[in-house]
Amino acid sequence: MRLSQYFLPVLKENPAEAQIVSHRLMLRAGMIKQASAGIYSWLPLGFKVLRRIENIVHEEQQRAGHIALLMPTLQSADLWRESGRYEAYGEEMLRITDRHGRDMLYGPTNEELITDIFRSHVSSYRDLPLTLYHVQWKFRDEIRPRFGVMRGREFLMKDGYNFDIDEAAARHAYNRHLVSYLRTYERMGLQAIPMRADSGPIGGDDTHEFLVLADTGESEVFYDSEITDLRFGDRDIDYANPQACQAVLEEFTSRYARTDETHDEALFAEIPQSRRRSARGIEVGQIFYFGTKYSDAMGATVQNAEGKPVPVHMGSHGIGVSRLLGAIIEASHDDRGIIWPEGVTPFHCGIVNLKQGDEAADTACAALYKAVVGIGLEPLYDDTKERAGGKFATMDLIGLPWRITVGPRGLKNGVVELTSRRTGISEEMPPEDAVARLAEIYAPHR
Ligand code: ATP
Ligand code: MG
Repeated sequence: MRLSQYFLPVLKENPAEAQIVSHRLMLRAGMIKQASAGIYSWLPLGFKVLRRIENIVHEEQQRAGHIALLMPTLQSADLWRESGRYEAYGEEMLRITDRHGRDMLYGPTNEELITDIFRSHVSSYRDLPLTLYHVQWKFRDEIRPRFGVMRGREFLMKDGYNFDIDEAAARHAYNRHLVSYLRTYERMGLQAIPMRADSGPIGGDDTHEFLVLADTGESEVFYDSEITDLRFGDRDIDYANPQACQAVLEEFTSRYARTDETHDEALFAEIPQSRRRSARGIEVGQIFYFGTKYSDAMGATVQNAEGKPVPVHMGSHGIGVSRLLGAIIEASHDDRGIIWPEGVTPFHCGIVNLKQGDEAADTACAALYKAVVGIGLEPLYDDTKERAGGKFATMDLIGLPWRITVGPRGLKNGVVELTSRRTGISEEMPPEDAVARLAEIYAPHR
């Protein structure tokens, strides 16, 4: 993309309404625009990152064997009356009446809808296990929408639902989700720690939240510092193997890590003082096992091997897709702007032409652009007439992890400059070497 042809409405001034750095930077970098309280338009740069995050979520869900579908945002109140949640959900639910006077709602989550799909089409244990998921907009009429996309009213969520014949199979589904979430967040350059949590209005008896440690996080968390040393890395895991998934759960829950709702002072006190931490965290996902709560209420049964009808065991599992943009920025920025991890960056590199209009510089930039596209990466080429300082400031603000700077002086020696946004370190090299370096850097992120 050439910047002169792009739509990147960056702001020079700090927007007064933003209280935390991620919100401020998303507004300044021209990623979002508030449409009304807690509801945002996704401008091109923000939309690109949202899609990258969503794609990682899809890839990792499918790697785990989960199946994508798409349910609507608007739902009939009748289904929610069956589960008893139409009244129970409270004011966070946006209730709508259609022209025929029918009660509708904008879905805050989808347990009822998916259970209805399941009971209409699945009747035998032979069709299990089954995990269906979608990535769809949700609406929760939050009393205090704030912090930009972190606590929106309309927000994008991946929500998945497992259906299993018994508790053991459903526990495996739970563990599979835990593993796939660890992989998902790490691919985004994030450390998200699974912490024992409280199940809230979803109900159920086992749940973990995934938290990204950040001072601006809304959750209070308590943990053993050793848990932050754990990495999932690029392990090859067989998702079909219950023991393998259970082992990962045990490893990642082997240290104390809880949100304030389940915090236990006595247990916490057993950890050596030097490892006890209390901090703030951003909830970027949550997994639940809730047994037969919805299948009992809504009559979702299957015939077991003996031909007897039994209620299915279920769980639901969510990732805050749009909230993740805020969480990643909170975890990765400096005073000049965002620093995107390679896995989610909107463009793979910036190309800055120090002297637009200079024939040698223009030609070199065009060739570089072609070469970067040629290796399957997407550059953002600043081909504007802006002075160098302004170009650098914009690149730093929008946070592309790599920048190639091209100027007449370097070109005389046959070199361009490759700069890491994270370290600020620049290296001179021939243009083809810079392209080869980018290919290497992005190889693990394809
Ligand atoms: P919170 O405690 O932050 O209100 P929740 O526990 O009610 O969230 P879940 O039902 O677990 O949310 O939804 C799954 C994920 O969706 C959450 O882990 C979070 O990342 C994201 N999410 C929930 N509410 C919002 C919101 N208002 N804005 C953006 N993302 C949200
Ligand atoms: Mg939650």
